[in-house]
Amino acid sequence: MRWTPGGSSGDVEDRRGQGGGFGGGGMKMGLGGAAILLVLSLLTGKNFFSVVGAGTDAAPGSGPTTDADGNLVPAATTPEEEKLKDFVTFVLNDAQGAWSTIFQQEGRTYERARLVLFRDATQTACGTGQTGMGPFYCPGDNRIYIDLGFYDELRRRFGAPGDFAQAYVITHELGHHVQRLLGTEARVRQAMERNPDQANALSVRLELQADCYSGVWGHAAAQEKTTDGQPVLEQGDVEEGLTAAAAVGDDRIGQMTGQGVHPEAFTHGSSEQRASWFKRGFQSGNPKDCDTFQQ
Ligand SMILES: [Zn+2]
Repeated sequence: MRWTPGGSSGDVEDRRGQGGGFGGGGMKMGLGGAAILLVLSLLTGKNFFSVVGAGTDAAPGSGPTTDADGNLVPAATTPEEEKLKDFVTFVLNDAQGAWSTIFQQEGRTYERARLVLFRDATQTACGTGQTGMGPFYCPGDNRIYIDLGFYDELRRRFGAPGDFAQAYVITHELGHHVQRLLGTEARVRQAMERNPDQANALSVRLELQADCYSGVWGHAAAQEKTTDGQPVLEQGDVEEGLTAAAAVGDDRIGQMTGQGVHPEAFTHGSSEQRASWFKRGFQSGNPKDCDTFQQ
């Protein structure tokens, strides 16, 4: 992607320098595949997410530093991680702009979500968010939670490199926010409570719709140009998104972990389903073509 750093970070909350906490319960909506990272971390005793923040050049006692917006920059950060922060800020702004336009066209008002950067653990309205859960959206506080270390994991363990793959992660979670705004999330949660035996199947439909919504953003991004007139999307970007969507498919994860493939236990959909719903959203650009519940 061709992107410019320096966009407003008004919707980004940086909690990387803070400790964790405990909060109330609630339904977290994740990306899929993340529970296994927790298992792998426990099995090997290694935190798979600690890599990005591990190296620090900050001299002891150098004191807190602030960025251009006056936010506190945690000591243990790297130039790479700061660049990632700029990138997720850009994607969040870009995608929320696209959704505002889509909502306006429907005569609706889009309410912006916030994005929280954290390390290890943080308090959310959906209970304690942990790095090992992977990125997730909490409908209770309209926030997307991500430990940027996940991107290292996405590239190495899930074999999905590239900035568009990283954008897919953010825009999938933002898709859950759109589902909350449209009332889909509440309807599905009630249906799950009424029919617990359908909970997994309903979860798959919700997740595939979030993948399709990620594609809807991709469609909007494909029409955008940078300030110097270059297309925002580059050759290979869409393929990176498709690879990432497939990488977090339930069948792929079952194979990765040696647990086998059990479609009845799927909560996010197969690799093929995830990639194809992303593609459908990307080709159409219309969220009405993302009705995974009628399919
Ligand atoms: Zn999800």
